[in-house]
Amino acid sequence: MAATFRYLLLILTATLLASHVSSTQQQEVQEPEPITRYKQYLRFKTAHPNPNYTAPVSFLLTQAQSIGIQSKILEFVPNKLLLLLTWPGSNPSLPSILFNSHLDSVPAEPDKWAHPPFSAFHSPETGQIFARGAQDDKCISMQYLEAIRNLKLTKKFQPIRTIHVSYVPDEEIGAADGMAKFVESEEFRELNVGFVMDEGQASTNDDFRVFYADRAPWNLKIKAVGVPGHGSRMFDNSAMENLMKSVEMITRFRDTQFDLVKAGKAANSEVISVNPVYLKAGTPSPTGFVMNMQPSEAEAGFNIRLPPTADPDLLRKRIAEEWAPSMRNMTYEIIQLGPLRDYKGRPLMTLTNDSNPWWSVFKQAITAAGGKLAKPEILASTTDARFMRELGIPTLGFSPMSNTPILLHDHNEHLKDTVYLRGIEIYESVVSSLSSFVEASQ
Ligand SMILES: [Zn+2]
Repeated sequence: MAATFRYLLLILTATLLASHVSSTQQQEVQEPEPITRYKQYLRFKTAHPNPNYTAPVSFLLTQAQSIGIQSKILEFVPNKLLLLLTWPGSNPSLPSILFNSHLDSVPAEPDKWAHPPFSAFHSPETGQIFARGAQDDKCISMQYLEAIRNLKLTKKFQPIRTIHVSYVPDEEIGAADGMAKFVESEEFRELNVGFVMDEGQASTNDDFRVFYADRAPWNLKIKAVGVPGHGSRMFDNSAMENLMKSVEMITRFRDTQFDLVKAGKAANSEVISVNPVYLKAGTPSPTGFVMNMQPSEAEAGFNIRLPPTADPDLLRKRIAEEWAPSMRNMTYEIIQLGPLRDYKGRPLMTLTNDSNPWWSVFKQAITAAGGKLAKPEILASTTDARFMRELGIPTLGFSPMSNTPILLHDHNEHLKDTVYLRGIEIYESVVSSLSSFVEASQ
């Protein structure tokens, strides 16, 4: 699309989205205000290992003040700021709606990028805005606010349920000082949250993707011990032999899962993935390893991802009996990262059928905004949503990015301006529908 035409379109959208801008200002507008604000937010250096939380929080506070909604900074761990914004509903006794996103980003390697990762370079030809966090997840952080701004200031909308927006630290490093602390707090309990929207992922076609569960990560270490021996001698039960038998079995299991994906019978996120991540064995020598000696210890590490539909006890049994059996001189350690079941012992899944009234309202809100949802999915990785699902609070992962390459954590992460602006309209529909919904008992 020609640059001039594209900007005409953008200015038109700006007029629709920000009708409070005066006509003289409109003539000077080079780009819609929401795009300017999105780019400003993208420029904060929020990458680990030293994310700056102070500057983006103060920016968001200014935004909240200009919209006229309440704000509160929480600090469960020093310097790990958490911002909570609140738009009170007319019936605050009803459970509230929480829109969550994280403040932090993964690092970027600037030399592998076409534009500096925190410059928010905006291509005049394609409309793509390049920045670390453009998709994950600074887009939704700002879209929530823009939607609220339009609803409150322009459309004079009044929510029935109270709406909260949270900006949490440390999602990308496991959330121990972020969402994990927040959900345990009195402040969170007082919010009386009934339904949560959290981050999702881009879709490469016209549909929007929506996620009802995350996979749970496990780190598995298996270790074999055995009698050491001369490299020339064949004998049973060496550490290497025992470990390699296990590696073969794990590889066969991995194949059964991967075959389901390859045959199109299951999505990548619906199977148990097992991937080898390290091997540790051998007796070091100045030039490498001692070659005429069979070592007495050997170890391997695997990254495992369990969908909520998998039975964790069955996998534990398999590990104990087949992958690291004591009769083959093996031991193992499972490091489980995060919860597998909610407080009632149920798998961490949010129902996406009519038995969940929140789902129906959400789905209708997307349709009402002219959008289409893809079949609900399990997210292959992990987000903060697991903490809310553990409390039994229905939570959907959703980032309205259609026709967009999936670039989270990748080089040249970007989002197109028109896709971003469309997302604001989608959230206007979602925020107004969810906060107007009163029929559910909870
Ligand atoms: Zn994220």
